[in-house]
Amino acid sequence: IELANSGAQQLKPYEPGKPIEELERELGLTDIVKLASNENPLGPSHKALHALKHLHELHLYPDGAGFSLKAALAEKLGVQTNQLTLGNGSNDVLDLIARAYLQPGDEAIFSEYAFAVYPLVTLACNARPVAVPSNLYGHDLAAMAEAVTERTRVIFVANPNNPTGTWFNAHALDEFLSRIPERVIVVLDEAYFEYVEESHYPNGVDRLQKYPNLVVTRTFSKIHGLAGLRIGYGVCNPQIADVLNRVRQPFNVNTPAMVAAEAALSDDDHIENSRSENTSGLVQIAEGLQKLHLEQIPSVANFIAFDCGRDAMPVYQGLLREGVIVRPLGGYGMPNFLRVTVGTSRENERFLAALKKVLADG
Ligand code: PMP
Repeated sequence: IELANSGAQQLKPYEPGKPIEELERELGLTDIVKLASNENPLGPSHKALHALKHLHELHLYPDGAGFSLKAALAEKLGVQTNQLTLGNGSNDVLDLIARAYLQPGDEAIFSEYAFAVYPLVTLACNARPVAVPSNLYGHDLAAMAEAVTERTRVIFVANPNNPTGTWFNAHALDEFLSRIPERVIVVLDEAYFEYVEESHYPNGVDRLQKYPNLVVTRTFSKIHGLAGLRIGYGVCNPQIADVLNRVRQPFNVNTPAMVAAEAALSDDDHIENSRSENTSGLVQIAEGLQKLHLEQIPSVANFIAFDCGRDAMPVYQGLLREGVIVRPLGGYGMPNFLRVTVGTSRENERFLAALKKVLADG
């Protein structure tokens, strides 16, 4: 461990949840509901599953340039293929950006209560993570712009943010972007973009022409239901895409992922059903939490963070015993909060009933 760079030494391993089968055995349950990782409760796009069934060329390396998927993405997004970078999940794109632009001692800015991978990729490069205090659990974009120094190379902002579900509007984004010097890369993480139905919610891709230092990241893990395949992408100006392409591992994205992603992209029914199921699920959970007199952070994504009013771990454990897995947010500095992913209406009902029971049991 001493040989690792000092940033890497500071990192704690990311702790993934146990496999459901293992938990079911441990707890003696057979019907655990997992609402912990912001996955799509409707499952994968059916078009994607169909495309995977006809895949016979697994003995060949993938198309390392992602030709076909990039063409489909470029068409859908209204950009050129040379503006796209494919990643093994959008996490991979975040990592590529850090590796390409952060040197030891450089600073990367992100918000308090932001996605755990931003400090991870920053520290792995032995750069300095700068967490700016949040504003009511959302990004304080003015304070983030003010935090820029000579050493700042990258700023990560997520819209909506995970784990809080907060968002900022077009006006706030434009004002922020206009304040950031061009030498600083702004990563606008839109992993939950497709879920948002607010009328003033901005589309980052529309701003790429104006801001050459902007990189928008998106994923197939959420609304497309392909988290297990690991595929996401970045959109930016061709010069940055070229740099990301240089540091990328050859064949970083596998064939099934690209084939499924391309099919999912045109699966309008699955996208629409997922969005509308999520929107009604958000209301169902928000109303349920209100009835239980629990404070929640208003969310536009596919999850809600709520305040247990006390250490959330016993509530988390109680829910687990009832067969419902949620995500405790102690690791994010929110020890009284749990985050629940929006499930199907039956799953949401199960979560709310289990929560009521756990709270009543004290
Ligand atoms: N950004 C945010 C804000 C996320 O919540 C997630 C998933 N938890 C990701 C990026 C990464 O998603 P993936 O690597 O599956 O594309």
